[in-house]
Amino acid sequence: VQINSQRMKKRMDAINSIAVTADGGMMRLTLSDADKTARDLLKNWMEQEEMEVQVDDMGTMYGYMAGSDQNALPICAGSHMDTQPNGGRYDGLFGVMAALEAVCTLKDNGIVTKSPLVVINWTSEEGTRFSPSMLASGVVAGIYETEWSYNRKDIDGISVLDELKRIGYFGKKENRLQRAKYYVEAHIEQGGVLEAEDYELGIVNACLGITGLRINIVGEADHAGPTPMTMRKDSLMAAAEIMLKVRELVLNYGDPAVATIGTISVLPGAQNIIPGETSFTIDIRHDIPEGLTSLEEEIRVVIERTCKEYDLKKKIERYWRADPVYFNKEVIDAVEQAAEKVGVSSRTITSGAGHDAVYISRIIPTGMIFVPSINGKSHCPQEDTKWEDIVKGTEVLVETLLELDNN
Ligand SMILES: [Zn+2]
Repeated sequence: VQINSQRMKKRMDAINSIAVTADGGMMRLTLSDADKTARDLLKNWMEQEEMEVQVDDMGTMYGYMAGSDQNALPICAGSHMDTQPNGGRYDGLFGVMAALEAVCTLKDNGIVTKSPLVVINWTSEEGTRFSPSMLASGVVAGIYETEWSYNRKDIDGISVLDELKRIGYFGKKENRLQRAKYYVEAHIEQGGVLEAEDYELGIVNACLGITGLRINIVGEADHAGPTPMTMRKDSLMAAAEIMLKVRELVLNYGDPAVATIGTISVLPGAQNIIPGETSFTIDIRHDIPEGLTSLEEEIRVVIERTCKEYDLKKKIERYWRADPVYFNKEVIDAVEQAAEKVGVSSRTITSGAGHDAVYISRIIPTGMIFVPSINGKSHCPQEDTKWEDIVKGTEVLVETLLELDNN
């Protein structure tokens, strides 16, 4: 089954021309006017295709294409249309438009599935305007409370609920996705593995678990001149040593284990004062819970030992822990068979980033399809994917939906 590549491109270009920054980046912040314009376009297209559009109380949009079996549970596909500030053209949007194009392609070819097909646009995936990320999928999956989610506020104190009402996308709670046969999310990889290894498609089997540590090391601030090296209690030197040891440790664990020290602050923070206090965070990710736990333990030992060596006080606080998520075997198999049918080169891949699919996998059998990201870039104007990879990824989605409908 061949998709209508021109139609899909025209629609994606229309949405990607709504709010463009000077750098050529996308600026469709969650529930902004630009988000509303994108939603209105999607709604129109779905209605043109004779889909029934529903909106839930978190603003998530569902486009239903009827199936032939009245009793069959729906099969869903989608992603999100909101972007980071100055974000890319394909993060999120690809998954929504691939789902829409898949449904349109089947309709054009006179193929009616047994299950109804549902195209979904989740509200507030990015988590930049309103934190945390994956808000609406989190509510549907029972992770976030509804009232709490309504009251998430942006930097100007404007709430999710206010904005849902203002842009006209405050729908009904009963429209929330509750039961479905499967959920499939197509997305850009956001890393450089597929491109580097020359694959056209990623069959996503899991999503890395995350542990976040906040570390505070306290030594003694002192004059940079008169204090000999042997008499110092330099918190930053110890932190620097810890960081290098963490890198070594994680390299020894091998792929897909990763660790990132993304923030650091030094007190008092003057050129000629020995740093008395250093705080930093470590974001640790691994694809198995035991690996995540042992990696954290080993990192804690490194911190402990190094601070002892330097005679420094330390505090280690865990601010986040999320176990790895494993996607549904039936969906993974269906994507694999679909990839074979379409004739794309593919490999199994683990997602390092979070997606709506991660939360939805708690309530519905779920899987993901990745297309390569050029230079592994995302969340920036340089984010890009070859158009032929977008087309192939969408064709794999079409075949995946057919495979799943036959299960
Ligand atoms: Zn995304």
